[in-house]
Amino acid sequence: MTERTLSIIKPDGVARGLIGEVVKRFESAGIRIVAMKMVHMTRTQAEGFYAVHRERPFFDSLTTFMSSGPAVVMVLEGDNVIARNRELMGATNFKDAAEGTIRRDFATDIEKNVVHGSDAPETAAFEIAYFFNQFEIVGG
Ligand code: ATP
Ligand code: MG
Repeated sequence: MTERTLSIIKPDGVARGLIGEVVKRFESAGIRIVAMKMVHMTRTQAEGFYAVHRERPFFDSLTTFMSSGPAVVMVLEGDNVIARNRELMGATNFKDAAEGTIRRDFATDIEKNVVHGSDAPETAAFEIAYFFNQFEIVGG
């Protein structure tokens, strides 16, 4: 089934010059990019995005990190793209991530793990709408 997911190249990935590398991996996997822009989130915007993690011990650190510099937000489209994107990213902790995944190859820390990807259709819908309106998504 064709579906959409939100991908973010996090501030560590942008600062380290990994935009092209991450985009290349999506394109090489046959995933279509149907929206893309750069954003520098405020702390409040990052807190809203990660509201599901509000009670977690790492929430303050995570939202500080996510608002520390520019990030690239993208809408990806394709068959089963939510799961496929998470496969390309690898496990949250890069030490557990499979060989050849983005996080295994580039992450330096459990927090600074280069990319974000929605984890379910409901979170994808919320996260896409958090950054994009319908006119900013091609074919949308
Ligand atoms: P994301 O939501 O960013 O795609 P994920 O779904 O693999 O990642 P989550 O459990 O949703 O992981 O955690 C969100 C983010 O919070 C992680 O990507 C990471 O940046 C950070 N994080 C998760 N667990 C920890 C932890 N134990 N310590 C510090 N940061 C963490
Ligand atoms: Mg998550």
